[in-house]
Amino acid sequence: MAGLTKENPFDIARRQLDAAAGIIGLDAEVLELLRWPMREMHVTIPVKMDDGAVRAFHGFRVQYNDARGPNKGGIRFHPDETIDTVRALAAWMTWKTAVMDIPLGGAKGGVICNPKTMSPGELERLSRSYIRQVGRLLDLEKDVPAPDVYTTPQIMAWMADEYSFMQGHNDFGVITGKPLALGGSLGRGDATARGGIICIREAAKMLGINLRGKPAAINGFGNAGAFAHKLAVELLGMKVVAVSDSKGSIYNPDGFDHQALMEYKKQHGSVADFPGSTPLTDAGLLELDVTVLIPAALEDEISCRNARNIQAKIVAELANGPTTPEADKILHERGVYLIPDLLCNAGGVTVSYFEMVQNASGWYWEEEVVHRQLEKKMAAAIKAVHQAAVQYSVDNRTAAMIVAIRRVAEAMKLRGWV
Ligand code: GLU
Repeated sequence: MAGLTKENPFDIARRQLDAAAGIIGLDAEVLELLRWPMREMHVTIPVKMDDGAVRAFHGFRVQYNDARGPNKGGIRFHPDETIDTVRALAAWMTWKTAVMDIPLGGAKGGVICNPKTMSPGELERLSRSYIRQVGRLLDLEKDVPAPDVYTTPQIMAWMADEYSFMQGHNDFGVITGKPLALGGSLGRGDATARGGIICIREAAKMLGINLRGKPAAINGFGNAGAFAHKLAVELLGMKVVAVSDSKGSIYNPDGFDHQALMEYKKQHGSVADFPGSTPLTDAGLLELDVTVLIPAALEDEISCRNARNIQAKIVAELANGPTTPEADKILHERGVYLIPDLLCNAGGVTVSYFEMVQNASGWYWEEEVVHRQLEKKMAAAIKAVHQAAVQYSVDNRTAAMIVAIRRVAEAMKLRGWV
């Protein structure tokens, strides 16, 4: 996990933007607009705790840019949340929906809290209270939230219910990542990981690497990381030799059985001390000699502190913003093939978009249709990013940024904003 000298993620997001804008000679007026969120809301949320005391929580919703369609992005519940993390994540959502060419803008929400220490009742009251505050910014045509770090389909259900009360009618479509019973989409649960696995498969093809039986390491065993484990084994035939969560990292050169690990984590609240495993440090996990490294936790996992020691051939960013710009440069120079977050973890928001389409039409797709459409979207985005990387001789992140900002800038110009 991140060290002491964590960089401000919004500064990083802006540096990435400036770099890509410089390469394509983006108009100064467009760039200036893209360097700022268009709207943001800061809220203080009173929550009655189980002991009867009322606690004030602080939260945010940032709507970064909706030139291409309604703002879209998840809500995080995390003790280290700050307005600048949420701004960065909202900017990245804007680029992500543009890279995927889905008609949406970018947003993000966050509440500073530690869900691990809260009861289900406290979490429900916090979720409802947050929506009572930011609900006035939300609407199918304005801003559509979804799950992110430490938020779940159940939390989305409470939020959709609260929002429906505010509107006076059922309005579940305003949130995605909902449980199936409330209009969620089949295939949304593992969509982030599935999109990443598709990217890894295509990258390996391009690099001439056979992934069967090869080792992979996953930093972060949350929703995306756990499904990545399952799908790396099922779809790619890889051996996942190391995984970690906030309580510890574990290693087994023979690979971990997904089902057994999930059951163990459910019982013990962490993967740490899983029978048959050796403990590792987080730094040790990132620097393992594996074919594929999947950072799936938080920002700033790969920085100038460790980029030179990364041994993986492919780094697949399932987390948002896990690599700093300095580390990007080092990895690129060292020939590590990086699949940037904007592409690698975009399966989640893409299936969220499919969920919006299904909610709007009232017609629900079979899982196989979701998978097929996701494959198509991922293939088109991978191709666009690859072409930009070749055309401008840049690394994949800069290429993804170029694809994205061109599309956002085109919409802004057509709308007459600049
Ligand atoms: N939180 C996910 C992301 O960072 C999904 C967002 C969404 O589905 O709107 O991409």
